[in-house]
Amino acid sequence: MHNYKTPFILYGGDYNPDQWDDITIEEDMELFKKAGVNLLILPVFAWARIEPREGEYDFEWLDNILHKIWENNIHFFLATPTTAQPAWLSHKYEDVLPVDIAGRKRTHGMRVFFCVNSVHYRERAAALAKVMAERYGDFPGLAGWHVSNEYGTYCYCEHCQIKFREWLRKRYHTLEELNLRWHTSFWGRILYDFDEVMLPTQLNDDFRFNPAIQLDYMRFVTDSTLECYLNEADILKQATPDLPVFTNISGYIKNLDQFKMVPYMDYAGWDNYPTPGQKRSIPALKHNIMRAAKDGASFLVAEQSPNQQNWQPYNKLKKPGEIRRIAYQGLAYGSDSSLYFQMRQSIAGQEKHHGAFISHAGWDSRIFQECCELGQELMSLGDVFLKGRIHAQVGIVFDWDNWWALELTSGPSRDMDYFKQVHNYYEAFYKQNIPVDILKTTSDFSDYKILVLPMLYMMKEGIAERITAFVENGGTLLATYMTGHADENDRCIFGAYPGPLKDVLGMWVEETDALYPEEENEIRIINKNLSLKEKYRCRFLCDVIRLTTAEALAVYGECFYQNTPVVTRNVYGNGQSYYLGSEPDEDFLMDFTKVICSEQEVTAEFTFSGEIEISTRYNQTGKTTFMINHGEEAGNVNLGTETFEDLIHKTMVTGWYDLPAGDVAVLFRKKKE
Ligand SMILES: [Zn+2]
Repeated sequence: MHNYKTPFILYGGDYNPDQWDDITIEEDMELFKKAGVNLLILPVFAWARIEPREGEYDFEWLDNILHKIWENNIHFFLATPTTAQPAWLSHKYEDVLPVDIAGRKRTHGMRVFFCVNSVHYRERAAALAKVMAERYGDFPGLAGWHVSNEYGTYCYCEHCQIKFREWLRKRYHTLEELNLRWHTSFWGRILYDFDEVMLPTQLNDDFRFNPAIQLDYMRFVTDSTLECYLNEADILKQATPDLPVFTNISGYIKNLDQFKMVPYMDYAGWDNYPTPGQKRSIPALKHNIMRAAKDGASFLVAEQSPNQQNWQPYNKLKKPGEIRRIAYQGLAYGSDSSLYFQMRQSIAGQEKHHGAFISHAGWDSRIFQECCELGQELMSLGDVFLKGRIHAQVGIVFDWDNWWALELTSGPSRDMDYFKQVHNYYEAFYKQNIPVDILKTTSDFSDYKILVLPMLYMMKEGIAERITAFVENGGTLLATYMTGHADENDRCIFGAYPGPLKDVLGMWVEETDALYPEEENEIRIINKNLSLKEKYRCRFLCDVIRLTTAEALAVYGECFYQNTPVVTRNVYGNGQSYYLGSEPDEDFLMDFTKVICSEQEVTAEFTFSGEIEISTRYNQTGKTTFMINHGEEAGNVNLGTETFEDLIHKTMVTGWYDLPAGDVAVLFRKKKE
């Protein structure tokens, strides 16, 4: 949605004034202005301060701070502080605290430490949201609502058990259907009453030995968490329909299906904490997943660290310029913000060593200086690329149910890592600066030339038909090992994998070998017309493939299935589909994606040299290209004959653009009338 109050790049982040005295707060305001901060998020953890006793509220301190913030021309997202309930709430109402997977009732502590289905938690959280909406809804500085914080707690209490049974009854209607979907005849698990359903915990080990029930439980927790979010969000939306409402999503996003939750929010807002030494394509992929959550709409980076974190084993400092490059990477892939945890470093507690704009050392620090320079620079960019979308011709299908089911499955290998596998394929395009959209299983595939299905194990209803139509109409498909094994309830498909994609791929998998971690096989290219080397290495899994209409492009070099197909191509309708039977090495993926892209005339927008990341966003005004040099050497980008406005250096540029090591450029080209 369009945030009419803040038509600029949001810059600032989590501020916890409930930890500070008046003198510190006064100093903060001066420093925030100096740093170009235009948005603060508060009071994320202040429920206990605001509601000392049930129904008694103390807002005076918050009123004063909000006035002070607004007097300094800074907007704010008000957070409902429901991520950390007060101790009295946990003590007074037995249902508030969660039960863990080992069946232990937890005591009060931590944060995000409540049962999302707790009636009393929801009652008090809704009451607080209502009071805050009434009190602050008309406040001019209020730019949006930030509900709670980093949901993700799994609870196994009796109430959750009852609700899970209700959820199953609603989903499957009858026990016959439930028994069928869960295939309960295996291991004699036939159910004769919904009350016989037990949550999958460590008490029965179903969380790891019964994938059908665990899969549904994960869906149930997602639905319950969404209800818990909407319990507050609906109240806020009703009070202030024009203001955005969202929650921040933890960087570790596996536990909750964000493609199910985020469509109910005005923004996908996520917390980006790349670990030291992590490949830069990993946060890039995560940005792309967040953009996909609202079908390509811009999102918010709701948290980043302005320096090192405290919760990693070894917390490396961010090098000079790193904060800036990380900020621009988010903006490049669709973020309209660069927000941080936290504005001032806490003096005690778990996160006292977590980076902040203003550290314990005070304002006279390298980090605060960098934050000031970045803030001033972002301010100077104005609003040219806000709401901008990415134009991609390559789509990679990503799906939470698939992620869960694939990693729950026992065999053929314990090394199922869906995110890693998706990343392998993403990275091959990323390194060439070819734009990629992450797609849901329900997305429209027709706008893309190339569709990649890394380990699309679960064939949800209708997806096979849509993939087949995509190829029939001229699209190029790339599918891999572990595709087309199971349905939505993890029941395998009879008649060989890749199940309903056998025809479009022109092959089938007879059996799959799992390799030991240190073991490899060889991909030997037999089609000499392709611009590929003779040999590559492969690992992880080896499908033994039988061809129907496909041709083999490469065969295995080793083992008893030596000389049988490992890479195949099938012409189908107006399109074609490729199948990879084993996890190829990085070299193969780079070379092979180049072959496919060149066949389909999919190219990077610009040729470049060096470790430069390039991404372009398009909106009503024009197009904005972000170029980030992550390398230690200078690089350059060929802009061709077009002329661009260099927004940072305030000049017009064309032809070869030199980008110094570690530097960033933002180039704008106005849309032709
Ligand atoms: Zn519970």
